[in-house]
Amino acid sequence: MTVSIALFTQDLRLHDNPVLHAARAAADRVVPLFVLDPAVEDAGFAAPNRLAFLADCLADLDASLRRIGSRLVVRRGEPAEQTARVAAEAGAATVHVAAGVSAFAHRREERLRAVFGDRLHVHDASLTVVPAGRITPAGRDHYAVFTPYHRAWQRTPRRTVLGAPRTLDTPDGIGGESLQPTGPLSPALPPGGESAARRRWRRWDVDAYARVHDDLAADATSRLSPYLHFGCLSATELVSRALRHDGEGAQAFVRQLAWRDFHHQVLAARPDAAHRDYRDRDDHWHRDEREAEAWRQGRTGYPIVDAGMRQLAEEGWMHNRARLLTAGFLAKSLYLDWRIGAAHFLSLLVDGDVADNQLNWQWVAGTGTDTRPNRVLNPLRQADRYDPDGAYVRRWVPELAHLPGPAVHRPWLHGADYPAPLIAPDALTERFRRGRGLD
Ligand SMILES: Cc1cc2nc3c(=O)[nH]c(=O)nc-3n(C[C@H](O)[C@H](O)[C@H](O)COP(=O)(O)OP(=O)(O)OC[C@H]3O[C@@H](n4cnc5c(N)ncnc54)[C@H](O)[C@@H]3O)c2cc1C
Repeated sequence: MTVSIALFTQDLRLHDNPVLHAARAAADRVVPLFVLDPAVEDAGFAAPNRLAFLADCLADLDASLRRIGSRLVVRRGEPAEQTARVAAEAGAATVHVAAGVSAFAHRREERLRAVFGDRLHVHDASLTVVPAGRITPAGRDHYAVFTPYHRAWQRTPRRTVLGAPRTLDTPDGIGGESLQPTGPLSPALPPGGESAARRRWRRWDVDAYARVHDDLAADATSRLSPYLHFGCLSATELVSRALRHDGEGAQAFVRQLAWRDFHHQVLAARPDAAHRDYRDRDDHWHRDEREAEAWRQGRTGYPIVDAGMRQLAEEGWMHNRARLLTAGFLAKSLYLDWRIGAAHFLSLLVDGDVADNQLNWQWVAGTGTDTRPNRVLNPLRQADRYDPDGAYVRRWVPELAHLPGPAVHRPWLHGADYPAPLIAPDALTERFRRGRGLD
């Protein structure tokens, strides 16, 4: 009897899972293993919202594995050390794991390699559609601009989508632990796990996506981001399912998945971009903790910004258009260091992802890959355009619910009892332009 280990990381699913597929092909028996690394918690990355979602994901994965004759083994500790222990207990010859893109994932892989040598098999088309580093422009190790990346991405052949295993034989007697999430949670978190992810995909209307994805009140985007972050759904399978729908909705949705791949390949090549400016603009950020805290609390005086921040607190998720304008308000209008905003997002987002969060923040701050780094999103124009009736703001800022239509975006004109704008509407670009030396 040969045994292999499928080490789950950000691929918490049975469907289209190259790691599980390969582990099963390599041996008679497979130990499905997840190791909770305390280093993630020590680094402050294990936000309560994500831990609670992760606990759901692991419970759902375990239940699905039990239905096919197996189960999930969960251990806590340094991943290479724990995997070595499980390998010794189970007599496993090989270990299979998905390639990651963060500095943390690189280190984990190095340690696993040091323990297992060529018995470690790393599968690179697991987390993204096109593996990071697979496509590169001439003379560079990654794409720094999305449009040419997207063109090359569309031309790149995708691997075949794999079915979920129908049976899986797992050795007995390998003990595990359970995950007990602690800490304050956002009250309206989505349920985690592959089953919830597949339900969500089946019920969601991709055909309308191109038309409605920027409409804040419609709330009609897929909301699949947390499931993609934890790998409850494979991005490759999603692309292939979406493209069965012929039309602009599917095309627009697939383009967003290419953005996800794009940020992943940037981070894989430049792991320090998680903390350091991808393009240094010699910023001398304004410092004001009172303003930063008003932004976090959703009390900036700009209801559209406040609505986004309150949605984040309540759901651990925020609409993309709201992420853009709340981030733009912090990094450009208040001209506070983007890292302050990125850290707050990561402390709450259930889809909080080093590649997608840090690089989108840098995109907005103009220190990342945006080809127009000095544009400033005006929150009032954004509100008029993407929440023209004010319904999104009234949903999240109930103290302004009495203001009809778009009046809700400018409470100072209607004598409403609401915080005064942190920065005057006619001064929304001033600090940034001065700070960047544009004036
Ligand atoms: C400041 C800022 C921070 C962000 N932080 C994160 C984050 O931590 N985690 C995260 O997954 N996304 C992040 N995004 C990207 C985007 O806002 C979310 O992916 C999206 O809102 C999730 O909702 P959805 O699943 O309904 O997306 P949909 O519109 O349905 O898009 C489908 C999928 O495409 C991917 N996607 C969409 N837009 C982007 C994008 N701009 N960059 C990368 N991938 C994208 C996501 O995986 C998403 O689930 C951030 C954007 C900004 C502006």
